[in-house]
Amino acid sequence: MSNMDRRSFIKLLGAATGVGLAGAPFITSAAEMLPKKGRRVVVIGGGYGGSIVAKYIRINDPSIEVVMIERDRKFVSCPFSNTVIAGFRDIKDLTITYDKLAANNGIKVVHDEVTAVDTSAKKVVVSGGTISYDRLVLSPGIDFRFEEIEGYDPVATPKVIPHAWKAGEQTLLLHKQLVNLPKGGTVLMSIPEMPFRCPPGPYERISLFAWYLKNHNPSAKIIVLDANQDIVSKGKLFKMAWAKHYEGLIDYRPTHKVVKVNTRKRSVDSGEGDIEADLVNLVPPQKAGLIAHKAGVVGEDKKWCPVNQMTFESTIAKNVHVIGDACMAGVMPKSGYSANSQAKVCATNIVQLMNGKELIDPSHVNVCYSFVAEKEAVSVAGIYKVAEGKTIAVPNSGGVSPDLSELEAIYAKSWIKNILHEMSS
Ligand SMILES: Cc1cc2nc3c(=O)[nH]c(=O)nc-3n(C[C@H](O)[C@H](O)[C@H](O)COP(=O)(O)OP(=O)(O)OC[C@H]3O[C@@H](n4cnc5c(N)ncnc54)[C@H](O)[C@@H]3O)c2cc1C
Repeated sequence: MSNMDRRSFIKLLGAATGVGLAGAPFITSAAEMLPKKGRRVVVIGGGYGGSIVAKYIRINDPSIEVVMIERDRKFVSCPFSNTVIAGFRDIKDLTITYDKLAANNGIKVVHDEVTAVDTSAKKVVVSGGTISYDRLVLSPGIDFRFEEIEGYDPVATPKVIPHAWKAGEQTLLLHKQLVNLPKGGTVLMSIPEMPFRCPPGPYERISLFAWYLKNHNPSAKIIVLDANQDIVSKGKLFKMAWAKHYEGLIDYRPTHKVVKVNTRKRSVDSGEGDIEADLVNLVPPQKAGLIAHKAGVVGEDKKWCPVNQMTFESTIAKNVHVIGDACMAGVMPKSGYSANSQAKVCATNIVQLMNGKELIDPSHVNVCYSFVAEKEAVSVAGIYKVAEGKTIAVPNSGGVSPDLSELEAIYAKSWIKNILHEMSS
């Protein structure tokens, strides 16, 4: 086998096996894409966590080289994507590129898919070869546990029954289906068991489905099948909003876990027989992004990554850190703001570790805004600290907004503008 042929084979093998390749000596023979001169951190993912950890490592210590690998050239934000589905925001406002982030902070951005991680050799595999690291940060977000829903075809089903739990094409498809809903038609949304990305996200979406239908298709109905026992975040506020604005429009059914789907019939089953609808928005159960599984840093639950709460270093693989939705961070919800906060703590303590200095005690913040109508929103806030190795809520901190309010909607718009600016500059 020629050198080139062998390399291609190795790459294909890495992509195809989908298993942890720790210690596999053959990976190391693939071509090094960016020969390493000094100290280097590689970041996988350029979303809410990845862009910020890359930026703050460079801010905290410009002598450390940072290579951020992101498969897409443009990032579309999930926060605010429900407002695109309801038709009162353009997806362009939620789309960022990486040129300014790279230029302003001296980050090397590589647009490629990481197909394997060799944690022994400290290398990641992309289509162009391998990239070596001293420390690796994974912020790959989520992937889905499709296999838990009988009849779900990962390729065919989302084209007919969108989840829209990753923003972009799926968001636009769901918006189109909502606009084209027959007069008096039925919308069905199913919510998986916790934990999942953005606990208030499904209830915001239901509110905005209802807002759209009230204004454009008032005889339509919404059925909600929630696998949880009750609304999992800001429950009182969502119930207030549904009673105030959408009386009789939403049929909310808790403890209804969807176990089966029929893509052709557009129907789902939560154990009581098939329910058909004109529009089905099935959000599947979730797990850490696939590359975390390939890197071998997922815990015994086979879903999420256990990490040291001070540094976000994996408790399974040394020199590998996991932040954002993919990691287990105590009571912090899986949100973009949490990922942003974790990224800053992780960046600070990676720099401390790489310079042989003492770790800094973390303090985290999270605020999640949810729209309940075009101009009304609600919010939940939390402050977190690490105590005895666990991330806990600071006693008597945080809470929810007292009422539905236009002011919260103004705060929300300011939040998205600021956080997307921070990620892209
Ligand atoms: C409908 C909805 C509404 C939401 N609203 C809010 C909100 O109002 N506020 C809030 O704080 N949060 C909200 N969230 C949650 C928020 O989107 C996530 O918590 C956040 O995106 C997590 O950040 P992350 O860095 O873990 O993942 P992401 O932001 O998803 O970034 C992961 C990145 O990694 C890349 N990637 C993955 N694997 C690879 C690979 N192998 N190679 C190269 N690149 C790879 C992906 O392309 C992606 O760009 C919402 C979510 C949804 C679905």
